[in-house]
Parts: sequence; structure tokens; C-alpha cells
Amino acid sequence: MIFEQLSLGNMHNYTYLFADELTREGFIVDPGFDHDKILATIRKHKVNLTRIILTHHHYDHIAAANQVKAQTGAEILCHRETAPLLHGAASYDRLIDEGYSFNLGNNKIVCLYTPGHAPGSLCLLVADKWLVTGDTMFINDCGRADLAGSDPKLLFASLQRLKSLPDHLIVCCGHNYGPYPTRTLGEEKRLNPTMNARNLDEFCKLP
Ligand SMILES: [Zn+2]
Repeated sequence: MIFEQLSLGNMHNYTYLFADELTREGFIVDPGFDHDKILATIRKHKVNLTRIILTHHHYDHIAAANQVKAQTGAEILCHRETAPLLHGAASYDRLIDEGYSFNLGNNKIVCLYTPGHAPGSLCLLVADKWLVTGDTMFINDCGRADLAGSDPKLLFASLQRLKSLPDHLIVCCGHNYGPYPTRTLGEEKRLNPTMNARNLDEFCKLP
């Protein structure tokens, strides 16, 4: 697969491009800033963009979605709990939920419902190689659970769920906050304190 991780905007957001090398069909995740750079990357790889997937409703993950859609014709997908929170900052064409999947060539993409940082937060399993986590998990950390709509209990449960996925997955998170741009899920299980809290109480006491 074609894989690009773009660090964009003053909040160091990551936008991702994935595409099948043979068919050139692809999708992006969380276009928050710099639609020109995103479009240039799509053109560079000669990708036919068919989907724009929003991991959650926060402005820094969605603000460039409409411009990318206008230039590519791709449809915008989000969870049903995300849709009413977009408030016109991005439009949407399709509601997706746990288990939604599609294929790009021989590569399967599967949607996981992982609420907590925001209602409707999604993660994506891509080609059994990458795990796109949005703001649910960062390298060595997790997303905030103290924002409007956040729920620490749900976030803790979502992180526990991610722990059940295979170690070889490459974690692709929503912000460039950590010591590395990506790390394997196995390393996160070992080193990320938010994955190692033994219960909700311990989780909530983390700095
Ligand atoms: Zn967020």
C-alpha cells in the first residue's frame, strides 16, 4: 500500500493517506489543515481518492475535509455520534460504525468504534499492518478525557480494547506529540503508561 503520514498545522496534526498501489484507489484520514499539501500528496501518488474518514469531530481533524472533497469528489465518512457535532465545519455523506469495512485492491480496512476522547471516536485497522488511532491513543500517551463530550471510563475501555489487537500493528496516531512518529502496538503495550493502568482509578490518576 501507499502510505503517507503528513504532520500539518500548528497543533501538529497527522493526516494520513493510504492507497492501493495497483488500483491507485485511496482514502485519507483526518484532514485538518493545509488542504493544498494534502491534495499535492494525492496528486504525487496519482491516487483516485474515494473516501475521507473523520476519526472524530474536533476541528483540527476535519477543517480541510470539505476542500479536499470539493477537489476530489471523495465522500466524507464519520460515526453517527460525530455527525451532529460537526456543526457545518465539515459535511458528511456516509455514517459508519463498528465493523464497517471496505477493500482497496487486496487490502481490507476495518472500522473500530473506540469512544472516550470524543463521542463517536473511531480507529481504523488498515491491511492488517497499520492501526490508525486518531486521538484515542498517541505514542506514549492517550487523548484528553477532560473535554466536552469526553468520558474517561469509555476511553479506558477503548484503550483496553486496543490492547487486544496484535503487537505487529503500526500505531498511526492523530498528533505528532510523541518521541517517534509511529511505533508498534507491541511497544505501546509495553511502554505507554495509559495502556498499563490496571483500572479506571489508576488511569484517572495519570498526569
Ligand atoms: Zn481530538
